[in-house]
Amino acid sequence: MKRKYKLVAFDVDGTLIDEMQFIWTALHRKFAVDEEALDSAREMFENRQITFREWAEHDIRQWIAHGATRNEILKSIKSFRIMEGAMQTLQELKRRGYTLAVISGGLDTALYAHIPDADSIFRYIIINRLVFDASGNLTGIHVPREYDSWGESKQRVLRSVAKKEGITAEQCVFVGDSNNDLDVVREAGLGIAFNATPELSEVADAVIRKKDLRMLLDILE
Ligand SMILES: [Mg+2]
Repeated sequence: MKRKYKLVAFDVDGTLIDEMQFIWTALHRKFAVDEEALDSAREMFENRQITFREWAEHDIRQWIAHGATRNEILKSIKSFRIMEGAMQTLQELKRRGYTLAVISGGLDTALYAHIPDADSIFRYIIINRLVFDASGNLTGIHVPREYDSWGESKQRVLRSVAKKEGITAEQCVFVGDSNNDLDVVREAGLGIAFNATPELSEVADAVIRKKDLRMLLDILE
């Protein structure tokens, strides 16, 4: 029998990594960023005056101004945990022949801190990448081309990843937890809401309410 789905894509914050807040929020707190500056940038993004890339670069400049370093960033995400059952699930999905991908609006530092061998597990990793100098000082951010737009556009990323694989979005699975996953969960052939917001659970094809990624292995039998 031909398998219906070929690729499984994951969100990071709240899906592969168990945390109560977005990594962005955690680091804004850590570096005591001026809330007014953050709010005005978010409003400009929401009103489509700046793109996601410009928004991200704006916020990163605040961290740089507060002397952010790689070590401090790692320290402040130390309390985050890899999601229960994540490694077992990723390995088993690979064994079953699925292509794996990360599609995230978060930061690479958190992903690699918890999954150091991510490059050998995922064929595609679409995520914002922090840039540090040789001494570990934060100097900038590299935002994926697909995010240089209004909205995080995970949907567009899924389509382009599928195209590179020679498949359709219908043959893709996406697993996410937040409202920034709404468009991509709708786009994927199988959209899965993982301990998700009510809005995302509403539009998803399947809902996982247990905080254990191994539940995915039953859905994808
Ligand atoms: Mg998330």
